[in-house]
This record gives sequence, C-alpha cells and structure tokens, in this order.
Amino acid sequence: MKRIGILTSGGDAPGMNAAIRAITRKAIHEGLEVYGINYGYAGLVAGDIFRMDESTVGDKIQHGGTFLYSARYPEFAQVEGQLKGIEQLNKFGIEALVVIGGDGSYHGALRLTEHGYNTIGLPGTIDNDIPYTDFTIGFDTAVNTVLESVDRIRDTATSHERTFVIEVMGRGAGDIALWSGVAGGAEAVIVPEKDFSMRKIADKIRAGRNRGKKHSLIILAEGVMHADEFAKELGEYGDFHTRVTVLGHVQRGGSPTARDRVIASQMGAYAVDLLQQGKGGLAVGIENNKIVSHDILDLFDAKHHAELSLFDLNNSISY
Ligand code: ADP
Repeated sequence: MKRIGILTSGGDAPGMNAAIRAITRKAIHEGLEVYGINYGYAGLVAGDIFRMDESTVGDKIQHGGTFLYSARYPEFAQVEGQLKGIEQLNKFGIEALVVIGGDGSYHGALRLTEHGYNTIGLPGTIDNDIPYTDFTIGFDTAVNTVLESVDRIRDTATSHERTFVIEVMGRGAGDIALWSGVAGGAEAVIVPEKDFSMRKIADKIRAGRNRGKKHSLIILAEGVMHADEFAKELGEYGDFHTRVTVLGHVQRGGSPTARDRVIASQMGAYAVDLLQQGKGGLAVGIENNKIVSHDILDLFDAKHHAELSLFDLNNSISY
C-alpha cells in the first residue's frame, strides 16, 4: 500500500483535527502518501481530494472543528454513490481510507469495505454514543465546555435563589449530562437511560431550599425532552423560580482538551497500523485505556452503554 485517504463526516467534534494530524504524520513516517478529502462523502464523490504533507497538518492540533470540513450526504447510502466514491479514490491511486465520524459515517465506511475497499472508522462525536469504545473523540471537550457554563450558571443561580434547567446535547445518550452533572455538582441529572419522577425532583429541590440551599441545578439530556417543557412540568409541583438554559452548539466547538488530543492521536496512529496490515471494516475505540478495534458490523448490533454508575453516584452525593 502506498496511498491512504482521510475524511471527516457527520457532526464535527473537537479533536478531529488531532486525529487527522496523527493519521497523516504516522502514515508519512511509515513511508505512505496521504490525501485529504474535503466535506466527507460528498467531497469524496465530487473528487474534492488533495495531497497532504507533514506541514498541511501543522498548527492544527489545538483547533476545534475539522479543517477537512464535514457534510451530510444521504446519497452515499445508495450503491451508485459508493461506487462513484471508489472510482474517485482509484483515480487518485488511494488504496485505503480512514473515516472519522459517528454512527452514520460508519455505515458508509462499512459499505466501502464491502465493495472491497479497506476503510477504518474512528469515533468522532461529542455524544459518546458509539458502542465498543469508552470514549469518543470530542466527548471530553464537550463535557468540559458544559462544565464551564454550569459553574457560571451556579453563580447567578445562587445570587437569585433560582433553579436552573440546563439542557445539554447527547442525542439519545445521557453521557454528557452524567459526566457534567457529577463534575458540576448538579442536584439532578435527567437522562434517557433512566426514568425519573418530576414529583421526586420537586421534593428534592424543596428539601434543599428548606435546608437553606440557595440554588438548584438540573442537567437535562436533550434526548429526554426540551428544557422548556421540563421547566413547565416542574412548575406544576411548586414555584422554584426556574430558568432555562439550552447550551446548544457551543458544546460542539472549542479547543480540544488534552485527553481528546491524546486519544485522537492514539486512535489515528492505530488506524494506520491496521490499514498497513491490510485490514478494513474495523472501528477503532478505547476500552479500559487500551486502543482496540472491532468489526464495524458488530457495532450495529451492539448498544452503547452510558456509565450509569454516575447516575447513582450523583444521587448519593448531590442533594
Ligand atoms: P454521524 O456520522 O455523525 O452519525 P450522519 O448520521 O449524518 O452523522 O452520517 C454522516 C454521513 O454518513 C451521511 O451524511 C452519509 O453521507 C453517510 N451515511 C449515513 N448513513 C449511511 C448509510 N446507511 N450508508 C452509507 N452512508 C451513510
């Protein structure tokens, strides 16, 4: 193998640039040539492909987003789009590909492998909702971004004796809420993986008030319901001077944390090793602090499990 390609696809995540850098530098170090593909599968099909050298990825590690850009391109679910993509790769003499993205992007990677074109997937999403990896690239940064806001909101919540409902991202997964909830000392964390009773939450806030507590913070995962709706329902159990903050896309941006940069670098280098061994159709992850890979096909049958011990922990230490 002489040439590999890299693309980022789906929702962007801080640390994607660190992954691109690691793949590129490691591959060049191993004597390979590297091509960047802009705008995910859309750019692949359009032939938006360029040669990268070691300096193309210079000064990128500290930046959020992806300098290869990302795109949603549903047409890639059709065989026609996939074959056109392979045609472009062949035109450039690119023999294998690394795709950095989420669940949807992995489908594209698997399709390419099924057509005989080796492709490796790296988990790039802030949601941490990918099976067979303890952490995805971008998750740690997103949690830290949320935490910074939670700390700020706590200041104003205390001054005005308010209850805040803070809606965080995560799609169907409660990971961002769980980690930022524990780290931020939130009185309640509401996640899709656990049922909750609005009455019990109201009782908890009331009990805290009665003990002289000046504020209450509730971290709500977006996969449960909208924060406005939640605040309205909570209001039916008492007046808690509730305010709502929806953090939104700030969670997707920003300079990646050390942890995200390190795992992105480890995973990127590992992907190059796998391709050099002639492997494809694999998803790279980190389990128990070790970089691993699993068949992408197995991921689609598996379910991501959020660290629910954090839910119980939070209930026992934040009240
Ligand atoms: P993410 O990768 O973050 O989950 P998406 O679900 O939007 O984001 O998927 C990213 C891209 O991956 C899509 O825009 C499309 O180009 C490609 N993709 C998604 N699903 C499939 C599929 N079933 N087959 C082939 N490609 C797909």
